[in-house]
Amino acid sequence: MNPPLLARCEENKLLSQFSTIGIGGPARYFLVANDTDTLAQAIRSAYQEKIPYIVLGKGSNTLFDDRGFAGLVILNKILFCEEDDDLIHVGAGYSFSLLGTQMARKEKSGLEFASGIPGSVGGAVYMNAGANGSETSQVLVDVSYVTEEGEILSIPREKIEFSYRYSSFQEKKGAIAAATFRLIESSSARKRQFEILDYRTRTQPYGDKSAGCIFRNPEANSAGALIDRCGLKGMKIGGAEVSTLHGNFIINKEGATAADVLALAEEVKAQVFAATGVTLEMEVRYQPYA
Ligand SMILES: Cc1cc2nc3c(=O)[nH]c(=O)nc-3n(C[C@H](O)[C@H](O)[C@H](O)COP(=O)(O)OP(=O)(O)OC[C@H]3O[C@@H](n4cnc5c(N)ncnc54)[C@H](O)[C@@H]3O)c2cc1C
Repeated sequence: MNPPLLARCEENKLLSQFSTIGIGGPARYFLVANDTDTLAQAIRSAYQEKIPYIVLGKGSNTLFDDRGFAGLVILNKILFCEEDDDLIHVGAGYSFSLLGTQMARKEKSGLEFASGIPGSVGGAVYMNAGANGSETSQVLVDVSYVTEEGEILSIPREKIEFSYRYSSFQEKKGAIAAATFRLIESSSARKRQFEILDYRTRTQPYGDKSAGCIFRNPEANSAGALIDRCGLKGMKIGGAEVSTLHGNFIINKEGATAADVLALAEEVKAQVFAATGVTLEMEVRYQPYA
């Protein structure tokens, strides 16, 4: 890593404060990227110096290890939001939930489902976040992407593969710096956004610390419904608990560790398999120490 960048990194920064589940030990190096150049410089330097790195949005789908991360964590805080008719160009660190709400307020439709998803725009594109029958990829036009070599590319939607909670960015190193969405005018956008948010806050454990749905929904099935049917709501290991409100959320009830969460997820998975024959797969991304 070149000296100017290293000088700007903090060391041993606790990651629990950057994850919505509130778990994680220290990052060896930690840097906030407020603009694309800083992001590109950080990634290029880490790559050249062979320092492992991860790009973090709002940490709402990430479970850090109890020992933390033995490399560089780059916190994406690229926060601009520019509108040009039906096109919205947004920095990857911008709040996805806020974007959904702001656009619905302006009677622009297509991102109402984002309201209440506590991630960043970059995280939403990376995960192809979705809800209520809509997905991020459906309104995406292009992505500004920083390669490991520090090159900044504009990648059109057609060149990116998407499926359920998947984008081809998951196969690449590098980072999403910004995204462009195309929305359409609709006088019912605000009403729809309210309904989505209302349903979400009634059915998901918003007051608790979690990393969202712990498992992916199996084909034509609901992980939450399977867990509920197996009577696993309220099951605990250490400080981790299967939410009593929604079975597909594991919450940090009281000082949970990553080990507690992983052990509880394994136990849920084993019991669901024994009772139903369905194998659940993790949706939350566990980030190992090294
Ligand atoms: C209460 C709650 C409700 C939720 N509801 C939903 C829901 O309805 N639908 C849904 O899909 N998800 C939901 N989630 C999960 C989560 O909010 C989404 O997956 C979100 O898109 C993750 O964004 P993030 O910025 O928090 O990602 P992070 O957790 O910060 O990162 C997730 C992954 O994306 C990568 N990443 C993040 N930003 C970038 C970037 N700029 N460039 C490259 N890689 C990047 C990270 O390296 C990591 O691998 C919910 C979570 C919670 C806590």
